[in-house]
Amino acid sequence: MTATVAPTATVFNYTYQSAAPDSKGRVPPSIRKIAIVGGGTAGWMAAMILAHKLGPRGVEISVLESPAVPIIGVGEGSTPWLRGFFDMLGIEESEWMPQCNATYKCGISFRNWSTRPGFESYFHPFASMLDNLTLTQFVHNAQARMNGYDVEAHPDKFFISSYLAKNRMAPKPSRNFPFDVWYGYHFDAALVGQFLHRKAVERGVKYTACHVTNVNLEENGDVRSVTTKEAGEVEADFFVDCTGFAGLVIQKALGTPFVSFADNLFNDSAVAMPTPMGDKMASHTVSDAMRHGWCWEIPLTNRYGNGYVYSSAFCSADEAERELRERLGMLDSPEEARHLKMRIGRVTKHWNRNCLAVGLSQGFIEPLEATALLFIQRTVQQFVDALEEGDIGEAARDRFNGKVNQHFEGTRDYIVTHYKTNTRKDTDYWRANAENTKISDALLELYAIWMSGKSIAPEVGSQRLGKGYPIFSWFCIFAGMGIFPEKERLRKPDGRGPSYSMAEIDNLLQRSLLNFRGQRETLANIPPKPREESLQIYFW
Ligand SMILES: Cc1cc2nc3c(=O)[nH]c(=O)nc-3n(C[C@H](O)[C@H](O)[C@H](O)COP(=O)(O)OP(=O)(O)OC[C@H]3O[C@@H](n4cnc5c(N)ncnc54)[C@H](O)[C@@H]3O)c2cc1C
Repeated sequence: MTATVAPTATVFNYTYQSAAPDSKGRVPPSIRKIAIVGGGTAGWMAAMILAHKLGPRGVEISVLESPAVPIIGVGEGSTPWLRGFFDMLGIEESEWMPQCNATYKCGISFRNWSTRPGFESYFHPFASMLDNLTLTQFVHNAQARMNGYDVEAHPDKFFISSYLAKNRMAPKPSRNFPFDVWYGYHFDAALVGQFLHRKAVERGVKYTACHVTNVNLEENGDVRSVTTKEAGEVEADFFVDCTGFAGLVIQKALGTPFVSFADNLFNDSAVAMPTPMGDKMASHTVSDAMRHGWCWEIPLTNRYGNGYVYSSAFCSADEAERELRERLGMLDSPEEARHLKMRIGRVTKHWNRNCLAVGLSQGFIEPLEATALLFIQRTVQQFVDALEEGDIGEAARDRFNGKVNQHFEGTRDYIVTHYKTNTRKDTDYWRANAENTKISDALLELYAIWMSGKSIAPEVGSQRLGKGYPIFSWFCIFAGMGIFPEKERLRKPDGRGPSYSMAEIDNLLQRSLLNFRGQRETLANIPPKPREESLQIYFW
């Protein structure tokens, strides 16, 4: 076999930090008081991280939340990085998960995005240590198939997470199993907000229910204070804008420009409805392609969260609601649907003057891969890192903004790939997505490399695409969507390269499954986390 040589796997070690709050490290003396405006998930996650990192160094953290403006109340799925958030804060799963109706998440199943035979659905797994036993085989086979050899290259056959999801098992192995498995969570967004609110106040964060009516600027353009209806004028040295799509401080007051992604991510609306939880509780998110977008299906302990994300340029709100109700068998149900608008894109500067934008105020890439909470977490963490370096001048802000923007663009390009590689022909929406030429040069280059049969690993690793998603995810999306030569054109392997037995791989994964239990059973008795847990994730 003459397929291009698979890249070498290297190990990325991720070790959970101990929960002790930091009291060392410098914080610029000009920052003594930080006011967070907004009490949605972004506001409370930011408050928790800042209180943990800066509270012990004497920085006062407060949250101002409007009693009149509700939180967006969606956002029920996470990436695995949320584990690090709770661990850093020393909050056990057995404490927060039951209070937030949370479940474990093995990954996301994409159904009906591709019409290529054999590739009508695929699973985007959270890869982990155990997958190192089968990852090389997957990458090798994907490359070989791209080069015309008839070998198995569907990602679902190679990852433990897809096996777990198929069997509705939780990704928590028994204690004597020597491999950790990476996972994310599903949760009730409103309950997570309330949980974090309680915790933050316990940890010294000040809370004021007040509606901000004006943002007052200094002569030099910095933010001096905010005027509120209930609490008068509130001054601070630094402001964190968590006001959601309103972007009250970062956009409206400071005039930070917004870069729209509407050219290549068409969806701008959503409609959501819950359904009751049945007997069987899934352990993954479902993302099913619909006529003008896609539907999510998220299992919580007490219900399913469902929603249809669509483009208003192709479909009306009524049509979308009808299609969602049809799917859920709720055409005649009195249950009300919630309609939402989304603004897709990002601000040019997430840190502008003495204001940091976190959450929907800084930007949003549609929820297809549930990445928004990760942006919140990373933005605040990287801000703390920058403060600790002691420099909050323009150069430091530019460096910070450059990093956050790369993360946004890399993630955006990954999400765009879902749409660009679709082969549905049933509506103008899908045809427009497949034919869209307004995609980044980086992504065009990556497609060209994949189509040439060469490895995409160096390209992903060397530029910003890798800042959004690790290389195995890029392999999964191309292979999972079935971007290979047509089946009839494939030839038998010629025996010159390695050949892997799919029966052995299946056997290995089936035997591994014996160390896991069902989602419902695991949630009934969540084990405590070991004090120091080392997690290894494989990238190239
Ligand atoms: C359809 C959809 C699905 C999503 N799914 C996911 C997902 O699966 N996973 C994921 O990670 N993310 C998801 N998200 C994103 C996620 O919901 C948000 O990132 C997250 O909830 C954070 O929102 P936020 O706190 O920035 O804004 P919001 O929840 O809108 O909070 C804004 C806060 O600002 C306050 N406020 C507003 N104006 C004022 C004022 N004048 N004075 C004082 N306070 C004010 C409000 O009271 C509120 O507390 C989804 C988003 C949408 C639209």
